[in-house]
Amino acid sequence: MNEQVIAGKTLENWKEEIPVLKDIMNMKNVFWVNRFKSDFEPASKKVNLSKTDVDDAEARLARFASYIETAFPETKKTKGIIESKISAIPAIKAELESYYDTAIEGRLLLKRDDTLPIAGTIKARGAIYEVLKHAETLALENGLLKSIDEDYVVFASSDFRDFFAKHKIMVGTTGNLGISVGIMGAKLGFEVTVHMSVEAKQWKKDLLRSHGVTVIEHNTNFTKAVENGRMQSEQDPTCYFVDDEHSVDLFLGYTVAGSRLKKQLEEQKIQVDKDHPLFVYLPCGIGGSPGGITFGLKQVYGDNVHCFFSEPAHMPSMMLGLITNEYDGVSIDDFDIDGKTGMDGLAVPRTSGFVSKLMKNFFDGGFTLQEKEAQHFLTAMIDKEKIYLEPAALAGVPGVARLFGTIEGKRYLAEKGLTEKMDQATHIAWATGGSMVPKEDMEEFYKQGLEKSKV
Ligand SMILES: *Cc1c(COP(=O)(O)O)cnc(C)c1O
Repeated sequence: MNEQVIAGKTLENWKEEIPVLKDIMNMKNVFWVNRFKSDFEPASKKVNLSKTDVDDAEARLARFASYIETAFPETKKTKGIIESKISAIPAIKAELESYYDTAIEGRLLLKRDDTLPIAGTIKARGAIYEVLKHAETLALENGLLKSIDEDYVVFASSDFRDFFAKHKIMVGTTGNLGISVGIMGAKLGFEVTVHMSVEAKQWKKDLLRSHGVTVIEHNTNFTKAVENGRMQSEQDPTCYFVDDEHSVDLFLGYTVAGSRLKKQLEEQKIQVDKDHPLFVYLPCGIGGSPGGITFGLKQVYGDNVHCFFSEPAHMPSMMLGLITNEYDGVSIDDFDIDGKTGMDGLAVPRTSGFVSKLMKNFFDGGFTLQEKEAQHFLTAMIDKEKIYLEPAALAGVPGVARLFGTIEGKRYLAEKGLTEKMDQATHIAWATGGSMVPKEDMEEFYKQGLEKSKV
């Protein structure tokens, strides 16, 4: 028999080296603590990005606030800042305790990125930032904007729009990234093209077209659709390609969430320090959003924030990349994992090399969940909290139960000396999307979770 080789090793070698790989391959739930990570200070010295980059992104978004407020009146309340609330979800905390039969200490909050203005998903953080930065660069290079001290409300003028109309933006996506890039790009005046695979939902295509975005459907899978987009884009010098896998700007757009969350917690008089730890559970697809937010949070809270990414057990691409130390050198296909998930925002078979190599230094760990868990909590979230989330947005919710309910989770708390402090802890599940989903689709999701299904 011809032994299959994955990144230089046979499957047998891999399983010997990493025993938990067996569970990952069997698509079981895994809670993984990142042993490669060091404390925040030494970790920061190993990487190319720093607080200066985060501050730069934050300042850029502040410059654009007057434009955003003008272009999107729904952001008037927040003065052009695209941000979401945090809210307590006590009924879901009780449901987690009963569903997983485990006690949860500390308070549980939900970060409502499902309600972010303009695009209604977490992508509004990274993608809108990247489009704005590109627009700013073009405007400065071409002398439309004299300096960064001008009032950016000029971006809403017809001069600017006419200028951007001669420029193109392209992106390849199954959905949410395209919506954020498409709405923002089209509003500025760009000619935006979104390349989608056949699986992408019809309502997303319709929505984009209603904003004047060109949607090109590819009769191939997601990876091919992205490749086609990238190729077309490279042949055209007036075209800018938003690259989900390699973009530093996209990543930096997410990082700004860190200092914003700190402010929100302070306003609610919620303490975070070594005696009051903060735990954050982030749904993970290609890795940009959980990576960027973790990076931003670590800048403000250092080792007092504990960040865990969350992936479908059928699509654990970040976990595989980190656990094997091979990053984007391995995919779920190499390990015969089927990739069947309804959490479509997380349906990425191979992680981003850029994000995973960077975040190896900062993620505290990660976990996987079953489809049934996402379905159950999607329905529970509607019944008990009247919050309508899309499947991917539920992935972080079981995280807190994993921390208290698994051997690995309890060991993590003990090793960090936190076991006795957990009654003073704050847990945040990051809800990443939902408000754009059409009613009929949401009803389908709701029904899926009605069946009494324990894992
Ligand atoms: C894209 C997305 C994620 C994950 O973000 P990545 O940057 O791909 O890791 C999570 N939830 C939703 C709803 C998304 O659209």
